[in-house]
Amino acid sequence: MATQRTEVCITGGGPAGVMLGLLLARAGIDVVVLEKHDDFFRDFRGDTVHPSTLDLIDALGLRAAFDAVPHTPLRRLDAVINGIRIHAVDFTGLPGPNRFVTLMPQWDLLDLLAEAAARYASFHLRMGAEVTGVIERDGRVVGVRTAAGDEVEARLVVAADGRTSTVRTALGFTAEGAPVGTDVLWFRVPRPPQPLPDTLGWANAAGVAITIPRPEYLQCALLVGKDEHVDTVEGFRDRVVRVVPRLAPVIDAVASVDDVKRLNVQIDRLPRWWRPGALCIGDAAHAMSPVFGVGINYAVQDAVAAARLLIPALRPRGSVKDAGDLALDVACAAVQWRRERPTAMMQGIQRRAHVFLGTGRVAQLIDNPPTRRQRAALRLLLPILRRVAARVVGYGFRPERL
Ligand SMILES: Cc1cc2nc3c(=O)[nH]c(=O)nc-3n(C[C@H](O)[C@H](O)[C@H](O)COP(=O)(O)OP(=O)(O)OC[C@H]3O[C@@H](n4cnc5c(N)ncnc54)[C@H](O)[C@@H]3O)c2cc1C
Repeated sequence: MATQRTEVCITGGGPAGVMLGLLLARAGIDVVVLEKHDDFFRDFRGDTVHPSTLDLIDALGLRAAFDAVPHTPLRRLDAVINGIRIHAVDFTGLPGPNRFVTLMPQWDLLDLLAEAAARYASFHLRMGAEVTGVIERDGRVVGVRTAAGDEVEARLVVAADGRTSTVRTALGFTAEGAPVGTDVLWFRVPRPPQPLPDTLGWANAAGVAITIPRPEYLQCALLVGKDEHVDTVEGFRDRVVRVVPRLAPVIDAVASVDDVKRLNVQIDRLPRWWRPGALCIGDAAHAMSPVFGVGINYAVQDAVAAARLLIPALRPRGSVKDAGDLALDVACAAVQWRRERPTAMMQGIQRRAHVFLGTGRVAQLIDNPPTRRQRAALRLLLPILRRVAARVVGYGFRPERL
């Protein structure tokens, strides 16, 4: 049985794992990232790259490489409620150079980060390497086992293997969180002949949907109750068109129920993110709802905080081994301390948004045509909402810097 040795072994090559790998390798720390898939290309898992991540791309000197990859910047996000279009989020007033959210396929972003990391000799990415369990010695995690039967020994194992994390289960951790009442059905259709305005939320008495522009098609989502099932494709198409009438000319592109992918929405969090020798970050520590599309950015923010706190502990100067391990454990605890509160705050907002969206209350916000009172309320509240929403969606709470 082969054993590879490294300083940090990261399980999972998603946004959290690849970003942390890049940041550690950049600091000269030997790091192995194990990703179970053979490539980054897979089902839609969200595309949004927010200003917080764009600032980081700038700080890493990757802007030119990023701009070379096709992406769609959006300076504002709109919602159509009962046929009334509302300009709901406006990023143009944000401080800093990145006053927009951009849509880039997640695999392109991961390729870009992995290529940047590969420039450092201490970065080792192993694709097609599925982790099956952890190795423990004297109460400390000292490595992982892979499905191929080999082992990677490390001073620290970082679980970044997503919301169904094998490693956190192996660590004996269970995420906690009250159930969410809604799920999301993802599907794609060609862009309709009459172009849609930029990314939109749509809400009316028939439901809530989202349309996200991709260069060649629209990535769409329909919110449904946990107990609602797609029985026939005709029923599904009919429901979509009632929510977004402008999809009528293209909805037949959803040919069968197999073209509709259900995302079991979860919002949960580990009570404890670390154990001696191991730390969980990203969705492995806290599954985010797709509401506001902040999952990737929260995963990246965890990676930045982890890198900043772990790097000094991984380079203990002149300390004996035990003191080094202790410093590492303290750093892991500090990562949880730093990231838990901003995560809990965002999850709290997401949870409330699910109740609001799932119970149809959003459709009661505005009549068509709006009443005088609604017009007055919109005039008063929208400018504030636009700015607050841009800040919360664009940067989240407690944005991290390198
Ligand atoms: C349908 C959908 C739509 C979404 N939309 C958005 C959006 O628009 N914007 C947004 O910001 N977020 C969105 N999200 C959430 C976002 O994808 C996640 O929050 C984010 O990807 C979390 O990053 P991560 O690195 O923690 O985990 P993941 O991205 O889940 O990455 C985990 C990685 O670990 C690998 N892995 C798993 N098990 C093992 C194992 N045993 N061994 C080795 N590797 C393993 C997986 O293959 C994967 O590559 C969406 C999620 C879904 C499912």
